[in-house]
Amino acid sequence: MTSSPTRKAAVRAATVAALRPGYRADLADGTDRFFEPRRTDCPWCGSARLRVRLRTRDLLQHKPGAFVLDECRDCAHVFQNPRLTGRGLEFYYRDFYDGLGEQRLGSVFGTRAAVYRGRARSVAPFAAAPSSWLDVGTGHGHFCETARELFPGTSFDGLDLSEGVELAEQNGRLDRGFRGSFPELAPKLAGQYEVLSMFHYLEHSTDPARELAAAREALRPGGLLLIEVPDPHCRYARLLGRWWLPWLQPQHLNLMPAANLRRRLGELGFEVLLEQHGEPHDPVDLLAACWLLLDAVAPREDAPWLPGAPPGRARRALRGALFLAAAPVLVAAALLDRLLAPFAARTGLSNAYRLIARAAEGNPNP
Ligand SMILES: [Zn+2]
Repeated sequence: MTSSPTRKAAVRAATVAALRPGYRADLADGTDRFFEPRRTDCPWCGSARLRVRLRTRDLLQHKPGAFVLDECRDCAHVFQNPRLTGRGLEFYYRDFYDGLGEQRLGSVFGTRAAVYRGRARSVAPFAAAPSSWLDVGTGHGHFCETARELFPGTSFDGLDLSEGVELAEQNGRLDRGFRGSFPELAPKLAGQYEVLSMFHYLEHSTDPARELAAAREALRPGGLLLIEVPDPHCRYARLLGRWWLPWLQPQHLNLMPAANLRRRLGELGFEVLLEQHGEPHDPVDLLAACWLLLDAVAPREDAPWLPGAPPGRARRALRGALFLAAAPVLVAAALLDRLLAPFAARTGLSNAYRLIARAAEGNPNP
């Protein structure tokens, strides 16, 4: 099913207009109420030795608000501080993966089959034909749909907070879809899964330690936990500063170095079988940085949370012209990303890491 660009633009303009009053009301009292009080200790290790790692804004949706990432001087954990409240998270996630943002993201996520295949394949040496797999933070279930090609006998379930998981079950991408918070649902799923995956999920969590404990609970003894998260030690994170895409403020609340995650998994009774840095690297850092920078200086696209009148024809044309003029730079950045990708792990440029860990035999003691 296709529709013309003009028709798409008209649909978007109507959606934006319909959403505007709601956003205006939400923002009438400013954004302070979206934040918890600033904490003075590290949520990972409790140390009070913190330093500011990054100050930034919402560079993707351009919703109002300023965000700070702190780093623990003792364990190097990076976290949003002050952190968003539940209401704040709802406000900043709204229309990103669902609603207004869904049409655009759907096409992005829909074309990542090669990435999903790589993720699924990484489990094969440790479990050739798992009977059951739970993908936590599954979104619209696209990973499971692809992984099924490699593991045709496996039953794939997915869990997520958003309605995408229900659609994924209806469309058959998931055998079962669970909508809700994983730590709250875990007791009902106790001991059910041979494999449990969390792809770029833990960094969105308010309490990663609770998520890991929930994973231990949902896995069978001897089951496998597969985790992929952005690497805050990535060299690009320092080189590109706020323009490094995986900072993804305000969504990423906790970014843990691999050593921290390994240690916590050990404490929970997991044995880490594999740590990879090259394979999970997503070669988009330079392209994304150029794009974010360009998008920050260009006139804004209309959005329901932006103050003032919708952009007129001249501003829209200027935006188009800027992106067109910058096209060669974007192409060069994308090429460089590709060229450097094979060396990402060796040069410390890899923007993510993957861990596979086996749950100990015997019952978990939460
Ligand atoms: Zn710490």
